[in-house]
Amino acid sequence: IEKPAEQGAKPGLLGRMLGRDDAPRRVLDDEMLERLEELLIQSDMGVETAMRVSANLAEGRFGRKMSVSEIKAALADEITRIMEPVAKPLPLYAARPQVVLVVGVNGAGKTTTIGKLASQFREAGKSVMIAAGDTFRAAAVEQLQVWGTRAGVPVMTAPEGSDPASLAYDALARAKAEGIDLLMIDTAGRLQNRADLMEELAKILRVLRKLDPDAPHNTLLVLDATTGQNALNQVEIFRKLADVTGLVMTKLDGTARGGVLVALADRFGLPIHAIGVGEQIDDLQAFDPEEFAAALIG
Ligand code: GDP
Repeated sequence: IEKPAEQGAKPGLLGRMLGRDDAPRRVLDDEMLERLEELLIQSDMGVETAMRVSANLAEGRFGRKMSVSEIKAALADEITRIMEPVAKPLPLYAARPQVVLVVGVNGAGKTTTIGKLASQFREAGKSVMIAAGDTFRAAAVEQLQVWGTRAGVPVMTAPEGSDPASLAYDALARAKAEGIDLLMIDTAGRLQNRADLMEELAKILRVLRKLDPDAPHNTLLVLDATTGQNALNQVEIFRKLADVTGLVMTKLDGTARGGVLVALADRFGLPIHAIGVGEQIDDLQAFDPEEFAAALIG
């Protein structure tokens, strides 16, 4: 059984289509570049980014005879070059508490990511608190409590249907009083009613800033890799709803189409703080551009 690549993309999507590493060398000509571009688009890189990657690949190499492994290595290099500037772990500030607002559509993996992050920071010796800000989904609150228990971190909740901003305010007040290092606030992801959500998020920001003008210090947008190019739209939308400062890409274990990460880096340049590679508490990794590029190319 083939072991799935850790950082995104089932192995071999591009590799298999290019042929075996020991296949005869071939000339990097227009036809070859067009074919590569198609493969990149199939990996969900999007047309624009795929064209840029293949143009970069051609530079200084056009007309050269290359082996499959040379082409793969060159492609991986080009992708790594795009991804390196965005591979940044969540920055830690001296602020106490550091307030991290977590946004994203329902099902993207917000709850899971908050649980995994809470566990990582706790293991690193930080005190962490979670606020279950999606007060309209009882199931979301329950899930977060389960994750809080797993991570050994307190979860602040409010009655179903109550004002998320008021919970956020109380959570920050308590985190301040208790000298907590990191407060993570979950939010609703109901994009169906965007005006409502916008107002809700705006109100959360307003009340947090009453207690700390710098809060939130980070606004993480959680994206599901299996939604492919749709992730680009979600960035556009959430950037209008909240000042997104960084991304977490989940479910990279379940897709051969992690190319959307390259498109995101190319288009928005937002930091990728972590990637989700499974449903368990330890399945959150720092984003490693080289490993990711190698896995994507296969
Ligand atoms: P939320 O609605 O945004 O809070 O999303 P959840 O955190 O509840 O996640 C939705 C589903 O995706 C759950 O079944 C999670 O177990 C699953 N999930 C989250 N992150 C990952 C990941 O990195 N890999 C996989 N395979 N599943 C994930």
